[in-house]
Amino acid sequence: MTEQNLQTRLLDGTATAAAIREDLAAEITKLTANGSRRPGLAVVIIGDDPASHIYVKNKIAACKKVGIESFHFAFPADVTPDVVLRKIFELNEDTSVDGILVQLPLPKHLNTEEILAAISPEKDADGLHSFNLGLLTAGKPGPRPCTPSGVIAILKRYNVEMAGKNAVVIGRSNLVGKPVALMLLEQHATVTICHSRSQNLDQIARNADILVVAAGKPHLVKGSWIKPGAVVVDVGIHRSTNDAGESKLIGDVDFDQASKVASMITPVPGGIGPMTIAMLLSNTLDSYKRRMNGPAK
Ligand code: NAD
Repeated sequence: MTEQNLQTRLLDGTATAAAIREDLAAEITKLTANGSRRPGLAVVIIGDDPASHIYVKNKIAACKKVGIESFHFAFPADVTPDVVLRKIFELNEDTSVDGILVQLPLPKHLNTEEILAAISPEKDADGLHSFNLGLLTAGKPGPRPCTPSGVIAILKRYNVEMAGKNAVVIGRSNLVGKPVALMLLEQHATVTICHSRSQNLDQIARNADILVVAAGKPHLVKGSWIKPGAVVVDVGIHRSTNDAGESKLIGDVDFDQASKVASMITPVPGGIGPMTIAMLLSNTLDSYKRRMNGPAK
């Protein structure tokens, strides 16, 4: 980071997420000033994966900061699918719950698709229900997946022009790559999607005005892959330990190299991670507003 190009601007996810949270908190204060109930997010966690527990803790803390009530349900790793499904059906009916989030990944014996499909699409805080992914594909409004939303939101906050630009997405998962590509398309970018079988990845990447990397491969993208002046969004997050045993978080992009070439770049940590949580809060508030205003409470 020391030799970062002086022209390069950091896309600061921590600061941007804090600004979004402030806006959300102000809106929630206004909406509940007449004594209305607060928005509610139910978080379901299964098993004892330490990283998942940290993510959930951070999400619950973020809810508190903006005035969203959170309901936390923890199940042991060997819980039966029936017990989880019953809890989700109960939360679907619970009028104090606007958003439901099931922390992924799930233990192997549980079918992720089946569990996510049980969430009412209207309460799908993570935007990962097939119905909502269908709305995204059709270009219709609905809750969008949080990490891709975080990518678009940070680009907008920094006034990055997307219309007509070449956007390259590395990764095609349902969680990040595919939806972020559709959302860039929604912003009128010309989108190329790459994946593990793409050839000449470096050449394709070099064509990007906006490069979004969600490959799950530490430091996959080198400085030489980046067009000078491109905007780089690094979604990847990995813990890396050096020979001295010191550990730090790194992304899918070699930040030290890339920051000498890009015009703007997200750091890891402090980039898309905090943005993802801010979008979860935003989805919950949107669902609350729809439910308070619409016929179904
Ligand atoms: P995934 O493993 O489900 O998907 C990875 C995608 O990258 C696949 O489509 C695969 O084809 C592609 N890919 C893998 N190796 C590649 C290569 N060498 N070249 C080109 N493409 C390649 O992962 P995911 O769930 O989409 O997550 C991607 C990364 O983003 C992970 O590091 C994950 O930890 C991180 N992530 C971060 C957040 C956040 O909040 N910051 C949220 C979700 C995921």
